[in-house]
Amino acid sequence: MKELRCSDAGFDCDGVVTGESVDEVMAQVVPHAKEVHGIDVTPEMASQLTGLVREA
Ligand SMILES: [Zn+2]
Repeated sequence: MKELRCSDAGFDCDGVVTGESVDEVMAQVVPHAKEVHGIDVTPEMASQLTGLVREA
């Protein structure tokens, strides 16, 4: 499993998104960022966030 902790991305948020692959994690990060943080993930942000995905 892979995971991305929202706090690692600099947000004051306990959210952790998990998935079986980086792509699966990123597919959930985009709606999370939009719904919870009101942020539209740009391609640049997406590549930065991808680098923060770690093994869970
Ligand atoms: Zn969050």
